[in-house]
Amino acid sequence: MAEQSARTIKQIDERAPEGFDLSPFDLSLKEDGLYPYRATTLDTLQVNLGDLCNQACAHCHVEAGPGKQQEHQMTRSTMTLCLKAIKENGIGTVDITGGAPEMNPEYRWFVRSLRALAGPDELRIITRTNLTILQEATYADLPRLLADNGIEVVGSLPCYTEETTDSQRGRGAYNGSITGLKELNCVGYGVDPALSLSIVYNPSGAFLPPEQKALEADYRRELRTRHNVEFTHLLTITNMPVGRFLKALGPDGTTEYIRTLKAAYNPKAAKNAMCRTLLSVGPDGTLYDCDFNGMLGLGVSGGGSNEAPANIKDFDMESLKTRRIVTGAHCYGCTAGHGSSCAGVTA
Ligand code: SF4
Ligand code: SF4
Repeated sequence: MAEQSARTIKQIDERAPEGFDLSPFDLSLKEDGLYPYRATTLDTLQVNLGDLCNQACAHCHVEAGPGKQQEHQMTRSTMTLCLKAIKENGIGTVDITGGAPEMNPEYRWFVRSLRALAGPDELRIITRTNLTILQEATYADLPRLLADNGIEVVGSLPCYTEETTDSQRGRGAYNGSITGLKELNCVGYGVDPALSLSIVYNPSGAFLPPEQKALEADYRRELRTRHNVEFTHLLTITNMPVGRFLKALGPDGTTEYIRTLKAAYNPKAAKNAMCRTLLSVGPDGTLYDCDFNGMLGLGVSGGGSNEAPANIKDFDMESLKTRRIVTGAHCYGCTAGHGSSCAGVTA
């Protein structure tokens, strides 16, 4: 690993000053026999219901917020195409994301329709939540609805202290998140082994997350002691140089951050990056290798040499499960240190 870091630092120094547009990532892949970068299978469909959110966090890679347009949210007809693709191709995991996916008016219908396809043993359904939304009266029914349908919940809480969480997510976010966690605990999430409740940590700045297992122990101790809150797992996720976080970094900060990520490049994390087994569906049905590529407008067909379909309406398992992945400097965010994915560390 030390030798690996030295090599990538040298590479950067040879190419400095280096900006976001350059793609030495492919060189890193090549050195480890991973180029051209391809999917190895397709077992997870991540469905982005839109960019509406009750928060507007500083690190948000999709730049979600309350002011987004209702017409940019996924429609029921696009969700129906997702259901069809899942059913006809035996996809084993669905990961519902946003924005705050709950704010899509068809969210409840989609959750129920997914579960109607197959039971929890055959189809794993995950929904992401910012937790604060669960304290709002309009969404008070959701913990029960999700529990009744055997949906796994992944909630964001960037720190177990109020000060750090509120500085990243806005005033009141911490207390709102704790209320949301308690609502979930109340129906069995994080307590009943059948109802998984994961918490997502992301750093408060341009640095890599600490070690996941050790941080999980800190979170468990602090949340239990301070609030009597229980959860199943902690997932650490690296801030991606995309969207609002990229804008906040500015040009110099971005160069510096990419340099930090490159210096920590880990081929094992590259081997296990989530895009190799996951496909992301944007709100309008466009297919992406991941949500980050979605935010950058890099569709699966965007590489020029890729014959995979561009939209969920043309879903084709054979071409998608071995598709060429569209890469860029932002990919160092997934492959630095212990790696980062929507399911936490990868290496
Ligand atoms: S990070 Fe999550 S909670 Fe924050 S604005 Fe983005 S989607 Fe909303
Ligand atoms: S950003 Fe991460 S998940 Fe997306 S294509 Fe790059 S390595 Fe894969």
